[in-house]
Amino acid sequence: MEIQLANRLQKLPPYLFAALRRKIAEKKAKGEQVISLGIGDPDLPTPDAIIDELCRAVKDANDPNRHRYGCDVPAGEFKEAVKNFYKRRYKVTLADDQIITTMGSKDAIAKLPMGIMNPGDLAIAPVPGYPTYNIGHTFAGGVTFQVPLLRENKFLVDFDAIPLEVRRLAKILWINYPNNPTTAVAPLEFFARAVEFGRQNNILIAHDSAYSENTYDGYKAPSILEVPGADEVAVEFFSLSKAFNMTGWRVGCLCGNASAVKALSLVKDNVDNGTLRAAQFAAAKALDMGEEIFPQINEIYRVRRDLVCDALSAAGWPVEKPKATIYIWAPVPEKFGGKSGVFADELLDKAGVVVTPGLGYGQWGEGFYRISLTYPDAVLKEALSRIVAMAQ
Ligand SMILES: *Cc1c(COP(=O)(O)O)cnc(C)c1O
Repeated sequence: MEIQLANRLQKLPPYLFAALRRKIAEKKAKGEQVISLGIGDPDLPTPDAIIDELCRAVKDANDPNRHRYGCDVPAGEFKEAVKNFYKRRYKVTLADDQIITTMGSKDAIAKLPMGIMNPGDLAIAPVPGYPTYNIGHTFAGGVTFQVPLLRENKFLVDFDAIPLEVRRLAKILWINYPNNPTTAVAPLEFFARAVEFGRQNNILIAHDSAYSENTYDGYKAPSILEVPGADEVAVEFFSLSKAFNMTGWRVGCLCGNASAVKALSLVKDNVDNGTLRAAQFAAAKALDMGEEIFPQINEIYRVRRDLVCDALSAAGWPVEKPKATIYIWAPVPEKFGGKSGVFADELLDKAGVVVTPGLGYGQWGEGFYRISLTYPDAVLKEALSRIVAMAQ
């Protein structure tokens, strides 16, 4: 019997990277050496102190709950650490009912719409953007209204361009700064405008803050919760994944508006049982040590960022150095007619290098490609020398 996929899966946009994946597999099968710069999953290990705390907690025979469901016996230390972190980092005070532990943030991003949207409801998501926003809406039976992130607007959402009819019907608006894939950052005034928009239109502002700690050159990313009164209309998804090299650990949190936090907790109560308790202890330790850990990780990415940007610029394909994230978002060179798919194909065919075509992130991603900095310097150097050879 061939199982028929549910409509909700069939409704998802075609996976634009599928063709690229197939080509990579073909090349590798022929024995050709392919360098991928496509994946945003840190290559660097989780810092030792965090691993030590995980081991301590999981071995702690005096803790009768160490093996139990992480949602039923949460490590109070994690919530405390989140509160302390928000206090130190942003001067934001969070109440207990304004925080929920999540399994990374993808989990929560996909599930929140199920707690808030009814079939046919609308939600607003940026394009180019993280695909999970749309997937969450679709799984909840809702519909995504896409707003463009344009270079002429510094890749910030233009709230004034959102039609009145959409404002009336939408339940959630997603924003994400520092942004994947555009690497754009947003000033606090932008978040203040987002909060105002949410309040005026009765829309929950959902800020995906996955890269708030991956910053360079002294830049510090603000939190939307720094805006006075933000917790009336906004929530923020924080994740330890990119900040602490902990993608596989599945720990994060949703903070802010208590009723939205409640909605997510009701969904989660019914479909998952939370994060391993020992991982929560370790995540608490990580947050407590943030100020010590971030500079060490970020210095490695900064060197890689400079290596990639300097090589591209020297080859006549200039790209601005991003202040944040673990990516480079570069314009497709003119000789490829701005077509990111054509460029990515050529790079793979002629240079054996994989970059992510911007079109894969939606229609307004066209004209750009993304390089991930999650590869060792030597790999980046070799890839860049091959890319640059194509510029000649
Ligand atoms: C990586 C990423 C996330 C979430 O990753 P988790 O590991 O689930 O925390 C969320 N949003 C964006 C934009 C990302 O790039």
